[in-house]
Amino acid sequence: MTHATYQPGPVHLLRVPTGADLLGHLEEFITERSIETAWLSYLGAVSGASLRYYDQAEKEYCDFHIHQHLEVLSGVGNVSLLDGAPFIHTHAVFGDAGGRAFGGHVNHGCEVWALEVKIEEYVGDAPIRLPDDETGLSLWSNLT
Ligand code: ZN
Repeated sequence: MTHATYQPGPVHLLRVPTGADLLGHLEEFITERSIETAWLSYLGAVSGASLRYYDQAEKEYCDFHIHQHLEVLSGVGNVSLLDGAPFIHTHAVFGDAGGRAFGGHVNHGCEVWALEVKIEEYVGDAPIRLPDDETGLSLWSNLT
């Protein structure tokens, strides 16, 4: 296990405008403010979702799209450093009109219809993502 303890920093609440790209808008927000360590959660609705699934056997992402209006039932993510820059990793569960749920790793291309977001900053050295041979992913490596 890798572990680090942080102190709470500022908490941001934001509403993402209709038509914005979900991930792109959050990236813009954290980059403009140089936020390097944070946890985020969000809910709302999208006009469509663009998601990824990580194939553990093949060690590669499979992209897929859901072309329909969806509720964002629960979005969760974090901010850390990848290649020296703030990086958002976020997953979300989406629901359709029948209450069925879909979910995955959120990619660019989720068009926001309405979205409320909380971003909790933390004070301390940011987690740094480095390539992990076992998983093929870039994982937190400097938490001690
Ligand atoms: Zn992911």
